[in-house]
Amino acid sequence: MLVKPRVATLPVVETFHSVQGEGFWSGTNAFFIRLAGCDVGCPWCDTKHSWPMAHHPKREISELVFEAAAKRPFMVVITGGEPLIHNLTTLTSELRKANLRIHLETSGSHPLSGEFDWISLSPKIFKPPLDTPKNNIYRQADELKVVISEPRDLVWAENQSQKVSAQTVRLLQPQWTSKLGQQLVCKHVLAHPEWRVGLQTHKYLRVR
Ligand code: SF4
Repeated sequence: MLVKPRVATLPVVETFHSVQGEGFWSGTNAFFIRLAGCDVGCPWCDTKHSWPMAHHPKREISELVFEAAAKRPFMVVITGGEPLIHNLTTLTSELRKANLRIHLETSGSHPLSGEFDWISLSPKIFKPPLDTPKNNIYRQADELKVVISEPRDLVWAENQSQKVSAQTVRLLQPQWTSKLGQQLVCKHVLAHPEWRVGLQTHKYLRVR
């Protein structure tokens, strides 16, 4: 297994204090660290500017932790891009030392590193999660969040649902611009009560 080296700096797109807009913890006070870099290539991605790492400044982990702690958030959300492109061991251990609760938002397409209080797995058909005995994020996912824009996405969602535990929260999230996605999600949840509808409430609230 390829082990990524520990790092003291990470390329950061942005940090901000807001409410978590989506997923199980929607509505919760959160400090976001959006890391740069993604190689998944979702065509409807709303953070394409995060893809090229070199376009974003490298920031000291100590500085990120200081900034997060100063906001006294309920939780810190590490997102991207695809944050697991980086080794998150140092970042999460330093956030822990500052007594901060840590959530991860990932597609699962790179090896898991770091320690988290909540893992939101949003698997993408374009580059599926790693699924080997050594690298299997499905077992550790607290939440499964699948973006739906067309019928094949529901097939993908059910396929992914087979891989997570019974306790994992299952969310179908309509792709923001897709009316068809909204219709598919509502219909599917009515027929499959193990799923919930997940909305990107920050877009309705017009906050980050
Ligand atoms: S995994 Fe996330 S950041 Fe990467 S392309 Fe897909 S939606 Fe965008």
